[in-house]
Amino acid sequence: MPNIIYLDNASTTKLDPVVKETFSSALDKYFANPSSIHKLGQEANYLLNKTKDEILALLRCSDHQVIFTSGATESNNLAIKGVCLRYKNRGHHIITSIYEHPSVLEAFKQLEKEFGFEVTYLYPNSDGVISPQDVKKAIKKETIFVSIMAVNNEIGSVNPIEQIADLLKDYPKVIFHSDAAQLIGKTNKNINFNKIDLLTISAHKMHGLVSSGVLIKRKKIELLPLASGGGQEYNLRSGTNDLASALAFKKTLELALSTSKERYLRVENLANRLISYLKSNPYLYELNLPKEINPYIINFSSIKKKGSVVVEALSNAGIMVSSISACHSSKEKGSYVVASLGKNELISNNTVRVSLDYLNTNEDIDTLVSTLDKIIKDIR
Ligand code: PMP
Repeated sequence: MPNIIYLDNASTTKLDPVVKETFSSALDKYFANPSSIHKLGQEANYLLNKTKDEILALLRCSDHQVIFTSGATESNNLAIKGVCLRYKNRGHHIITSIYEHPSVLEAFKQLEKEFGFEVTYLYPNSDGVISPQDVKKAIKKETIFVSIMAVNNEIGSVNPIEQIADLLKDYPKVIFHSDAAQLIGKTNKNINFNKIDLLTISAHKMHGLVSSGVLIKRKKIELLPLASGGGQEYNLRSGTNDLASALAFKKTLELALSTSKERYLRVENLANRLISYLKSNPYLYELNLPKEINPYIINFSSIKKKGSVVVEALSNAGIMVSSISACHSSKEKGSYVVASLGKNELISNNTVRVSLDYLNTNEDIDTLVSTLDKIIKDIR
């Protein structure tokens, strides 16, 4: 087996050894249940609340609460169904985009089919972006909720979530959620998260634990809990608190935010190296790049070979990339995300997603490029 080159970082990232150490030492040290009233339990509870305050301080959110979850899928479901079912008497119209992650789209579809909500699915504009103006145009008297992702997980388009939040201030009945699973730690911008009502974050996209995430929620917003029980997490997500995961999450976030600008620069150079190869071969590849990309995600289509064949051949050569997002690659033929950009069937059926990380090197990109070249020429 050749050396592995891992270029599937939008699916998941390698656990940071510092996070691993934080987690394993916390497992030994803080095993008591934070809901227990004895001294050990109360110490754990104090630490849990302190950790939440530190997470809010890292994100510079002064008006919010942290709800620990099992990752972005759960955070999205809790935000979407939690808000819509809680406030259903205020209106039945909700808005999202057509290229959200399945954990958002399926939650909207459930609200549509099972609970009678009317959903507007917005398309990206020609830049691959959900335009604030389109959000504004879609709002009706009955609208209660908007969910627009921060960075798309297949094509890396960056949505103007602050601008969307700003315009929604004129509609006090409308609550705004953003799935930021692919944004946190992977941007060079200073984003004012305080503007966002509900924010989804996942740990394993930024070198943290799998099955760990948060929903950041503006305090005054109420949610219908999806998991009822002992009342943990402000009665919104019952179940014994996982303090070790909470501490590991905070460490993950701290590392990601403190290094994001330098890591971004490094990844941007790698992305440019790959893009210039792809652009120099327009008969072999079509780039599925929005106008403003997040360089962590580069999506292109193979014109001469099937995307799945290219991905498999790269894998056989020790290079790990995806065709479409791992979350639905077994079920669907093509990429609904690339199709939403108005690309034809050939292009949306043959996508290849290279998702980069600061751990990748120029040599990784050069090996990818030379292997791609061989594959395109050799495989039938
Ligand atoms: N949203 C986005 C944008 C994602 O990329 C992913 C992971 N593919 C998820 C949600 C789901 O994340 P998790 O694995 O933490 O549930």
